[in-house]
Amino acid sequence: PSWEKRVTRSAQRRSSHGLTVLVTGAAGFVGTHVSIALKRRGDGVLGLDNFNHYYEPRLKRDRQKLLERNGVFVVEGDINDSSLLKKLFDVVAFSHIMHLAAQAGVRYAMQNPGSYVHSNIAGFVNILEVCKSVNPQPAIVWASSSSVYGLNSKVPFSEKDRTDQPASLYAATKKAGEEIAHTYNHIYGLSITGLRFFTVYGPWGRPDMAYFFFTKDILKGKPITIFEAPDHGLRGGIGHSEEEYREWWEEEGSAQLRIFNLGNTSPVPVSELVNILEKLLKVKAKRKVLPMPRNGDVKFTHANISLAYKELRYKPGTDLETGLKKFVRWYLSYYPGSGKKSSWN
Ligand code: NAD
Repeated sequence: PSWEKRVTRSAQRRSSHGLTVLVTGAAGFVGTHVSIALKRRGDGVLGLDNFNHYYEPRLKRDRQKLLERNGVFVVEGDINDSSLLKKLFDVVAFSHIMHLAAQAGVRYAMQNPGSYVHSNIAGFVNILEVCKSVNPQPAIVWASSSSVYGLNSKVPFSEKDRTDQPASLYAATKKAGEEIAHTYNHIYGLSITGLRFFTVYGPWGRPDMAYFFFTKDILKGKPITIFEAPDHGLRGGIGHSEEEYREWWEEEGSAQLRIFNLGNTSPVPVSELVNILEKLLKVKAKRKVLPMPRNGDVKFTHANISLAYKELRYKPGTDLETGLKKFVRWYLSYYPGSGKKSSWN
């Protein structure tokens, strides 16, 4: 079938109540899961991804195959390409855009600052420019990040807390995205929802994230480095009063721009994550414990999700051990032979 046919078929095949969603970053880790979940519940979904080489290109190509098996076509292109975006909106009247394309990762920014500006700032502006110019305007949901809380924020992080000290360029570009979203909401009335994801993990995950490379190194018998943060009494109380929320919404005006934390409410020290992986992999990790360096990582991360619960009925349904079990199962089947040392099978 022609390109246009594949685009329309992917986006418009949906149930009678289904939405028509453009998912950017669809070949990414979160994008793949979101696209399949939307498709399964009856939405029409079209993906867009530039398949950048930030990590293993094979993973993105295999996710693309998985998406295709689930009826989601992924257009290969950049979110900075306005004419491509306009062409997609000419062919399909998207009701929603789920904007997940971004340059992720904290440390990579030290050598590649431009890619963060290109994808997370210029690319986001370009998406918003196109959304404001089309009729009907799609509602926008986009991925911000828990990294906006930065240095010196008190845990657990709540949406009202300060976000004025980003610890990395990645965090700064995500924070900039939030400011930009405010502006487009204010001037053009675009409906925008930002999701501050806390560490997302699972099958088809990102090789640059700790749970992933710890698994790889533990299985290879390679030492893993754990950066230890000073104790900070994590288990503080959470929750805000009704009154605080009312004030928050009043400050937010028409509430067309909304920002939510999405995460798990029980933070886990890295050493505990390693304990769980050792148990699942049935291999002892070689641990090297060092004090935390200043490399863009924040010391703690912990979500207060009362707002998302109140407004979206969001409740994390998977505990860490169950989630990691799913990840490990996927890892061992995706990298056959990697688990030779373990007695998993
Ligand atoms: P990912 O890197 O797996 O996915 C991002 C995808 O976007 C990639 O497939 C990449 O090729 C694509 N992309 C990047 N720049 C692009 C561009 N200019 N044009 C088109 N496509 C482009 O990352 P992920 O973990 O799936 O993250 C999804 C979103 O969630 C990102 O915005 C990320 O910043 C955010 N986020 C993720 C986490 C997490 O723990 N995974 C936490 C907080 C925020």
